[in-house]
Amino acid sequence: MAASSNDTVQQLQKIVDDAYAKFKGVQEGKNADYIPYLATVPSELFGLAIVTADGQEVTAGDVDYSFAIESISKPFTMAMVMEEQGLDAVYEKIGVEPTGMPFNSILAIELNPKRSINPLVNAGAIASVSMLEAKDADERWQKILDGYSAYAGEPLKLINDVYVSEAETNYRNRAIANLLYAYDRLYSDPMEANDVYTKQCSVGVTARQLAMMGATLANGGVNPKTGKRVLREDYVDEVLAVMLMAGFYDESGEWAYRTGLPGKTGVGGGIVAVVPGQLAIVGFSPRLNEAGNSVRAMKAIQYIGEQLKDNIFFDCAR
Ligand code: GLN
Repeated sequence: MAASSNDTVQQLQKIVDDAYAKFKGVQEGKNADYIPYLATVPSELFGLAIVTADGQEVTAGDVDYSFAIESISKPFTMAMVMEEQGLDAVYEKIGVEPTGMPFNSILAIELNPKRSINPLVNAGAIASVSMLEAKDADERWQKILDGYSAYAGEPLKLINDVYVSEAETNYRNRAIANLLYAYDRLYSDPMEANDVYTKQCSVGVTARQLAMMGATLANGGVNPKTGKRVLREDYVDEVLAVMLMAGFYDESGEWAYRTGLPGKTGVGGGIVAVVPGQLAIVGFSPRLNEAGNSVRAMKAIQYIGEQLKDNIFFDCAR
């Protein structure tokens, strides 16, 4: 069914409105506080956005609030490394195995022979940053910001307060970067890579912008708004495969079991999930569960996925 028909958009709007009403009252979880800025984000914010592969947008709630992309940045940097250096480079120089452990686990680095493990945990994400071809930190950062903006189809910006807050407190990520470097699994200066990684996590996105980024993946690597190809079509499946296996850290198996949707979460409270060929679903709400995943966003996206399966997109949501 063409995602663009008016009927389809109306059905999607009803599903999103229902999900918003159903989960708005959920109070479980709490804001991330290991990054001081994130503890100050109003906990009640809740936004849902869908963008279809042909660029239709359906929203409910706080979809214009700019929040920190955090770990949702990771698959996009991974995709940029694939685009630049091919699939084997990511497989060989980082790895693609899920860890079953928290996103900033140091034990996982010690236990896994590839060390960096996969591009969606902090170790592999800092390694992705270090792999991008750049003459210095500024060029590396600019490349990342331009790359994300191409996925969003509009210029994105750093939230400087997030960056300062995270840079002052990211001792654990500094340890991870140094450890990887000692294992020869980081490919630029470790503190430089870590700093650019901290900046990439501090990029601001609204639920609408993030849904457009996801819709670019749903649309085979072409941004639905600008019509520009951002990622080679034959790399999209690999990006989604890593998201399905590792996008929710130690909850990735449960998420895949319950939804069948490749997705990625961030401690800023955002989650993007992709229905390949059809659309992207974004949930944003700051309260997180133990694994660092937004409680309301998980529930809402799971519900929306079930409704799509039972209604219009049943042939492809699973
Ligand atoms: N910037 C955060 C960190 O490195 C991202 C973590 C996340 O969103 N899971 O700890």
